[in-house]
Amino acid sequence: MSRILESLSPLNLLHSEIAECRKCKLREGCQRTVPGEGPLNTPVVFLAEAPGETEDFRGRPLIGKAGKVFRKAMQQVGLPLSKCYISNLILCRPPDNRVPNPDELEACWPWTSQMLQLLRPKVLVPMGDTALRMLAYKLGFSKQVKQDKITKLAGKPIYVEARKFYVYPMLHPSYAARRKDAREEFTAHCRYLKHALPRWMERV
Ligand code: URA
Repeated sequence: MSRILESLSPLNLLHSEIAECRKCKLREGCQRTVPGEGPLNTPVVFLAEAPGETEDFRGRPLIGKAGKVFRKAMQQVGLPLSKCYISNLILCRPPDNRVPNPDELEACWPWTSQMLQLLRPKVLVPMGDTALRMLAYKLGFSKQVKQDKITKLAGKPIYVEARKFYVYPMLHPSYAARRKDAREEFTAHCRYLKHALPRWMERV
């Protein structure tokens, strides 16, 4: 019975629509779409860039090398991923993991937009420059991030008054996977997020 109810959840319906997506050419070169994962009633949504090889192979977000850095940091600080939703801005793997181009970002945005409408998160965590720029542009907080790089903005919470949610930019975990100092910074930001969450939730 619970399986049937689960399969009827709006997120599952969205994920099955995503599986049929052919809005851009990326789907021709990858094995499958990789939808987000997590519960419907979560206040926190993490958004990275695009699936890599492991994600494309297994159909789950952030489970490769970068994902391991992310998951380990979350575990270390005691922020359970089962209570968060994690996804990517682009749901198909770009060839050779190249940065998605503006047309691909635009084509895939309606899926993220629908996901955000279903979840209505209180805290959005873009990881890396691509996710931060796209969210800022689409959700109307570009003025608050200006042209600053993610390395400058990471770890500095932004309250978006018009929409009543927080944006907490973080480094991309694949950047953190390559550098020890960035890994430490990444973990410190996860820790800050965990401690700030209850306070932020009172405001939004
Ligand atoms: N894996 C993902 O799911 N997203 C990224 O941005 C990188 C690796």
